[in-house]
Amino acid sequence: MRTAPRLAIGAITFALLAGAVLAVGAVLAWDKRQALFAFAQVAHRQLSQRVEQHDAHLTSLSALAQGSTPAPEEAIRQVAASIRQFYPRIVGIDVIAFEAGAARSTLSEALAPPVLEVARRATPAATLSLAGERLLLTKRAGADEARYHVLVLTIDPARLMALDQPVPVEAALGLSFEGHLLAAVGQGPQMTTRIFEAPLASRTQPLVLSLTSSIGWWTLPSSLQLAIMLALALLGGVLAERWMEASARAREAARVSARAKLDARLAHAGRINAMGEMASGIAHELTQPLTAILAQAQAGQRLMQRSEPDAALAGAAFEAVARNAKRAGDILAKLRSWISHGETTPEPVNLTDVAQDVAGLIRLNGLPPGVTLEVDVGAAAPFVLADRTQIEQVVFNLMRNALEAVEAHEGMRRVRLTVGAEEGRGVVRVEDSGPGLSAAARERLFEPFYTTKAQGMGLGLALCLTLVERFGGTLVADASDLGGAAFTARLPLVREAMA
Ligand code: ADP
Repeated sequence: MRTAPRLAIGAITFALLAGAVLAVGAVLAWDKRQALFAFAQVAHRQLSQRVEQHDAHLTSLSALAQGSTPAPEEAIRQVAASIRQFYPRIVGIDVIAFEAGAARSTLSEALAPPVLEVARRATPAATLSLAGERLLLTKRAGADEARYHVLVLTIDPARLMALDQPVPVEAALGLSFEGHLLAAVGQGPQMTTRIFEAPLASRTQPLVLSLTSSIGWWTLPSSLQLAIMLALALLGGVLAERWMEASARAREAARVSARAKLDARLAHAGRINAMGEMASGIAHELTQPLTAILAQAQAGQRLMQRSEPDAALAGAAFEAVARNAKRAGDILAKLRSWISHGETTPEPVNLTDVAQDVAGLIRLNGLPPGVTLEVDVGAAAPFVLADRTQIEQVVFNLMRNALEAVEAHEGMRRVRLTVGAEEGRGVVRVEDSGPGLSAAARERLFEPFYTTKAQGMGLGLALCLTLVERFGGTLVADASDLGGAAFTARLPLVREAMA
């Protein structure tokens, strides 16, 4: 497989893995947050119950203090002692008797200054205040302004926060009063996310419980989860690669088979085309000599049937018959060589020789009346690698077309045959002063069976092109400065020698 698809698969695998890690992390984080929230709710319930107990203690102590006059100090001391025994977070209980502005502690010898201070401000409604690290919950018992008691509970927030169950790792539980953090339990790294915050369910003690955690919106999965995901991602990647490779192979196989079918069709079409071209070519080429033979033979017959047979003339006619028969034979030989082109061994062919031979043959056959044939071979003798007979046939066909063009054309009748060399190629150019090529004709000239002549078969140029291209050459048609058409064959040059 090529590198790009492999890279793509690697990238997809990585993206899948990263996506899976993030997704699992998010799910895990959400799960943990849920667990922490549930824990915080339990802690909130417990602490709310605890602070509610403080109110209950105050109520019972206040009832005792007001119960009788004088207050049953021994009973108060006993209740206070049992409260402190069972509720270690209550680190101090003071019952202060106020009488005409003077305060007297019922339970202890001395009164801590902060306690006395809050006691002076006490109201019948329980009030919470902060003294150092302790919470003081005060309540005034008795409506008499001259004589009353004040109850003060000193609470240790740290002990208040000592829960039955441990705080989960990565979380911290905090208790605050009027914005001051009184106590925090649990440890962990940076507690950045606040997961829970709510005031305790108490009218008298406005304490706020909060739970913070280091867990963000996502968390890294454990190494086992990572390993499983990695294995799954790798498996997915491998399967994807296999699938891509298999489908690429299937596509390639389909393409090869389609190509093979197309090739077979083209080869078949090519064979049929070549056969058709060949058969028509044979007919086309033989028409001329056979017609000539027929005409000459009939002429000879007539000469011999005269009352005084003209032996000399008849002899000339038979000579022409023989010449045309030979030409027909030559054509057949050429066609045979064309058919068995696989076997032809190209040899260096002197284009100047070819041009001169063809021009000679044409002159021998007789030029149409009024036609001038110019042969311009210069001093150069370009040699091209080809089959001499076939190149002769090309030049002959081009010349015959040129002669036919000028013959049917009014005015000047000139045909020019030029041989030369340019850019490593030998060049043969046949030009005429005929009507030239129409745009439509130029498009279709080399198509087999394209003809504008009544007797034409439209195979001459198709055959010329096939032959020239067989030896790596080109054949193009353009306009000549003689006024008509120009056909130029170019063939790779073997060497150029002086004639
Ligand atoms: P054919 O000679 O049997 O028509 P060719 O393939 O040799 O077949 O030529 C095809 C057509 O090309 C001709 O019918 C003619 O219209 C055009 N043609 C070829 N040579 C010339 C030329 N020298 N001048 C004008 N038209 C030409």
